Amino acid sequence: MEIKPFEKKIYLASPTMHGEELKFMQEAYETNWMSTVGANINESEKLIAEKIGCKDAVALSSGTAALHLAIKLAGERLYGQPKVGHGSLEGKKVFCSDMTFDATVNPVAYEGGEAVFIDTEYDTWNMDPNALRKAFDIYPEVKLVVVAHLYGTPGKIDEIRAICDENGALIVEDAAESFGASYKGKQTGIFGDYGIISFNGNKIITGSSGGMFITDSVEDAHKVRKWSTQAREDAPWYQHEELGYNYRMSNVIAGVVRGQIPHLEEHIDQKKAIYERYKEGFKNLPVSMNPYDSANSEPNFWLSCLIIDREAMCKQVRGEKDVLYVSESGKSCPTEILEKIASINAEGRPIWKPMHMQPIYRMNPFVTATGNGRGRSNAYIAETGFVDVGSDIFERGLCLPSDNKMTKEQQDVIIEVVKECFA
Ligand SMILES: *Cc1c(COP(=O)(O)O)cnc(C)c1O
Repeated sequence: MEIKPFEKKIYLASPTMHGEELKFMQEAYETNWMSTVGANINESEKLIAEKIGCKDAVALSSGTAALHLAIKLAGERLYGQPKVGHGSLEGKKVFCSDMTFDATVNPVAYEGGEAVFIDTEYDTWNMDPNALRKAFDIYPEVKLVVVAHLYGTPGKIDEIRAICDENGALIVEDAAESFGASYKGKQTGIFGDYGIISFNGNKIITGSSGGMFITDSVEDAHKVRKWSTQAREDAPWYQHEELGYNYRMSNVIAGVVRGQIPHLEEHIDQKKAIYERYKEGFKNLPVSMNPYDSANSEPNFWLSCLIIDREAMCKQVRGEKDVLYVSESGKSCPTEILEKIASINAEGRPIWKPMHMQPIYRMNPFVTATGNGRGRSNAYIAETGFVDVGSDIFERGLCLPSDNKMTKEQQDVIIEVVKECFA
């Protein structure tokens, strides 16, 4: 079959606007609330808190800002308020998801802490509770865990919660990618002691940018609002007792968020249909889709991903920034599939490269379910077959074009192109 490139690029995940966004932005303009105060902010916070089922939500400039303040709150609750110029986690280890976007873990470093990466499990591609348990055996002093729900699929958050409770540790829950996904009937973002969501341009709903801090604590919400607006005290002048940030969401951005909220379920339905169509389309290929726990969780299906069976992988070697592969009949690899997808003017992406493999975090500890995952020589790996789960999924997996404006016909073409890779 002769496949022609799409005239208009098919993105991994791009913003989908509906009209109301513009109305609320215009309202901000016409009422002159062109600021970090206004009705769009108040209304969006209220609607998000209702959707998630939490007491309050605080609108911030990004998901990363929300993570930073959530992690700082946890740090201060555990270790007290640091001196100015020092982080709340200085000298402290923090357990973190390993296979995720670096925004999940960078705020630990902003606060002077050291991330200890916890390996991934195959069932949901999220933090492995067994590896977490192992980590508490090795580092019993750790009191904070930062956990993400990857690609919109809830992780084993009950088990993780139980392990943290046993060890007296707090949880920061990164639900940036999973807004609208639920686990045992509860929305992600509500399971941690502190939670966050993101409205980055490619997320399930967007503000073009922005994020929210999710909480059941009125004091925490108050504190985050205060910190995000330069930590002013209640005084006639600018009075400061704590370090502040300029992290508040703009009322214009909040207009976009407000206009998107009613369309969350519709976006999820579209993403789920995309996932199901890929699953059906690939049923005779040596691949599987990113898995989820269908008994307990309902993902938001933000990104559809696939993983190639080990036996069906052609040779692929990745350096720090370059990659080579050898094409082989009946086999393929993420690089070949991503190249083929790009050649028809569509966008895929490798799986998040695990944090323990990143040059910036190369010296940080990393724990797998079988013990410390560092220092495995190639000879050891060859002899035992041991690779950590994260680097294995990174090696064999990829994210497929998952834009909710993609038509069924366009998706059929992408499915065809993937099939050809295995011909
Ligand atoms: C997008 C994302 C963030 C950061 O959100 P921003 O709003 O882009 O700052 C954090 N964690 C994960 C897992 C993400 O995918």
